[in-house]
Amino acid sequence: MDQRTATLALPATPRSFGFFVDGQTIEAGPRGHFERRSPGHDVPVTRMPKCTTADLDMAVAAARRAFEDGRWSRIPAVERADVLLRAAQILRRRAEEIAYWETLENGKPISQARAEVGGCAGMFEYAAGAARALHGDAFNNLGEGMFGVVTREPIGVVGLITPWNFPFLILCERVPYILAAGCTIVAKPSEVTSATTLLLAEVLAEAGLPAGCYNVVTGSGSTVGQAMTEHADIDMVSFTGSTAVGRRCVAAAAGNFKKLGLELGGKNPQIVFADADLEDAADGVAFGIGFNTGQCCVSGSRLIVERSVARDFEAMVAAKLAKVKVGDPLDPETQIGAITTTAQNDTILGYIAKGKQEGARLVCGGDRLDFGRGQYIAPTLFGDVTGTMAIAREEIFGPVLAVMPFDTMEEAIAIANDTVYGLAASVWTKNIDKALTVSRRVRAGRFWVNTTLAGGPELPIGGFKQSGWGREAGIYGVEEYTQVKSVHIEIGKRQPWVG
Ligand code: NAD
Repeated sequence: MDQRTATLALPATPRSFGFFVDGQTIEAGPRGHFERRSPGHDVPVTRMPKCTTADLDMAVAAARRAFEDGRWSRIPAVERADVLLRAAQILRRRAEEIAYWETLENGKPISQARAEVGGCAGMFEYAAGAARALHGDAFNNLGEGMFGVVTREPIGVVGLITPWNFPFLILCERVPYILAAGCTIVAKPSEVTSATTLLLAEVLAEAGLPAGCYNVVTGSGSTVGQAMTEHADIDMVSFTGSTAVGRRCVAAAAGNFKKLGLELGGKNPQIVFADADLEDAADGVAFGIGFNTGQCCVSGSRLIVERSVARDFEAMVAAKLAKVKVGDPLDPETQIGAITTTAQNDTILGYIAKGKQEGARLVCGGDRLDFGRGQYIAPTLFGDVTGTMAIAREEIFGPVLAVMPFDTMEEAIAIANDTVYGLAASVWTKNIDKALTVSRRVRAGRFWVNTTLAGGPELPIGGFKQSGWGREAGIYGVEEYTQVKSVHIEIGKRQPWVG
């Protein structure tokens, strides 16, 4: 049977992983394991070492040695590019295996995981080019006796902390760019989704990345993650996760003033004008909240729709959501899979209960779906939501959409900006003036016109306001992992200070 059209089988036994330091896989041994159960099937699928802060120290020391001796940071960019291109090829070859473990640990549909791994290979290809394109600046305008050069240098050892919603995609929106800049890495994946971060270690080793340049320490956020943000020998931490933990990272980083990249939460508006292609917009809005079970930092979780079409449009979105195929993540037909963690499942159900209590009108969904095993929630839509309700203000991180009508463009912009977050936003309209005005006035790091959740290796990712600091991906994402040095070069003899 064609593997890509059949529902894949569960593993017979959970797969045990070691962690990865200085080119070596280290078994858990006396550290013990975390066991991960598939959220879609409720069976154990992987076992990860419970690493300690001593393991982190060992990994940081390896990354430091690798950085300082220049085995990666000082080789010609073209050689770094060769490794990244080989990694892309290996990723494509191993895509099926990586997608399988991603799906088992995360609960996302296998078809989506496959597409994400393909996208990740593209990130490596783009970053290979970016490694070679990275350059500084020259100042030939300083007079006869002086020439100025600005160089970009890799920032050093980077700690990479990632969340569970897109374990591999978020990793690959960072790793190739960090490597392109010439840095070395210690990665700490979420304790519930570490498998594919470790599989990437195998891919990079096979691609020829020197030992010590990519290390993975598995472990809890409160121990290994916290120690990483405090570590005196890490030059920069790229953290992707909740705003609450991001705030802790800021405090912890003060010890050695390490640079922080922060990609945090969102409460992203979808603004729909009456003149939009409403069929197209309804499909986009359903996708924007249903994709990855709404467990996306950029999910469009607030539907801000022109009042004259609000009720009809709400019904169109509800009809779309009712048709989406929710179910077994290993079934290639599935569009929405399981909720990744039990805690997140409870959080989402808690917000649904709160929406009802606060007087929002439940249009569709609103409950768990019972497939006999695993945790699933029906895509949910609330009408009559006001700006003070929790479901309008707080990041739910689940398939729950809050509908808020508007009368004027000014009002739509005000509602869109009425949030502490500023990660992403979409506008749906066929009027170019409205599209441009809204895109300029909404405070968000990513903006989509007549589409949503579009991405790729070229355009940067990042948030305004409390959604984060810095940018990942694109050439900006490589530059983020460099620092600039100014070099003044005297031509001829300098003007003496002492006569
Ligand atoms: P989380 O903040 O709980 O955990 C993220 C990572 O931080 C995990 O690896 C975790 O182990 C680690 N961690 C936990 N405590 C830590 C500490 N004290 N110090 C250092 N690291 C620590 O987030 P999550 O629940 O895994 O992911 C969901 C959140 O991530 C949502 O808020 C979502 O919006 C956000 N997110 C943002 C983006 C983005 O690009 N802006 C992308 C994905 C997810």
